[in-house]
Amino acid sequence: MTVGSSLLAGSAPLGADPAPYSSQRNNGVILYDLLIKGGRVIDPSQQIDGTRDVAIHSGKIARLETNIPVGHARRVIRAEGHIVTPGLIDLHTHVFPFVGPYGIEADPHCLRKGVTTVIDAGTSGAFTFPAFRRYNIERDATRIRALLHVVSIGMVAGSTPNMGELEDLRYCVPQLAVQRAQENKDVIVGFKIRFSRQYTGPNDVEGMKRAREAADEAHLPLMIHIGGSYSPLKDFLSLMKKGDIVTHSFNSHPHGLLDDAGKIREEVLDARRRGVLFDVGHGAGSFSWQVAQKCIEQGFLPDTISTDLYTANVNGPVYDMPTTMSKFLLLGLSLPEVVRRTTENAARVFNFGAEIGTLKPGAEGDVSILRLQEGNFTFTDSDGKSRAGTHKLEPVVTVRGGKLFYPTA
Ligand SMILES: [Zn+2]
Repeated sequence: MTVGSSLLAGSAPLGADPAPYSSQRNNGVILYDLLIKGGRVIDPSQQIDGTRDVAIHSGKIARLETNIPVGHARRVIRAEGHIVTPGLIDLHTHVFPFVGPYGIEADPHCLRKGVTTVIDAGTSGAFTFPAFRRYNIERDATRIRALLHVVSIGMVAGSTPNMGELEDLRYCVPQLAVQRAQENKDVIVGFKIRFSRQYTGPNDVEGMKRAREAADEAHLPLMIHIGGSYSPLKDFLSLMKKGDIVTHSFNSHPHGLLDDAGKIREEVLDARRRGVLFDVGHGAGSFSWQVAQKCIEQGFLPDTISTDLYTANVNGPVYDMPTTMSKFLLLGLSLPEVVRRTTENAARVFNFGAEIGTLKPGAEGDVSILRLQEGNFTFTDSDGKSRAGTHKLEPVVTVRGGKLFYPTA
């Protein structure tokens, strides 16, 4: 316990960094570094939705109870009227900036917006991953894990001009991907590959076979990007296994989840029965109100809700994780259902279970404090269609390993 540090503080209103304050006021009974008091705690991993206090010490969750005395903590956040969740997990982001056109900086756009853990979905491949690890994964305050692109150059080019990473199969060498994953087992948690015509040409099914080979050899899950593929969806789904992930589930491009009559394709239902997971991955081109609504009406809810945050959508229509979560409130999911898909479910995909996505004592001291605003809000999908909503989640302060991160403008 570092008594005397500049972090010493007493109670402070939310939204303001608490002023330095002597711990003496606490009569010397300091048990915790931080106490988040009086918020509505939603932790689906423990079936909790109610008022609780969260105590954090030495970077870990120390206690989760109804009435922890203020005097036991060096610093107190008054969270009455706020939503308190396990640190949010965004399963699909691009946080390898300045290499290629996609990457954004994780700390301002993710951590300060409520997300303590992000999965980078294939921005780097075997050739570029060492730089991603050294300059981002090891330096950013956001916890970053990677799905390594099976194509060794990763996403160094966009779709214009047409230089898709899978157009030249010489870059798609499963052994290179497997080797890089095995060298970085602590941070590479799976593989990624993209199947849109402009990124693959006619090579998508061959790319899928090579991705399958890499995933099987490394015993890691595979995430596939769908939407506007050259080949039909069933050609990829038939090669997917339990624990693999389909992202961009609600895109409106050809070869999506719905058939021409608006019904969920039988091969999609079959894949879900086999344990294949379906993720949102909103992005600049992959989330349609209409498709999402039709799927939800047929009882097909996403397993995980993610942003696919990158340069072309961070200033809209995606913005951040709380905005994406708000869109699913608008589509009729309850707040606990939305939180489950951004905490517990997301943690389970990569077996993060006991460490993150939960407020169980002993877990990482990662907490998101959010405000559920009521009013009139406009939300826009990737097709430019807007809908009016009455509730909007907004980040207030994020706790990562016991440290506080406030939103920047
Ligand atoms: Zn993406």
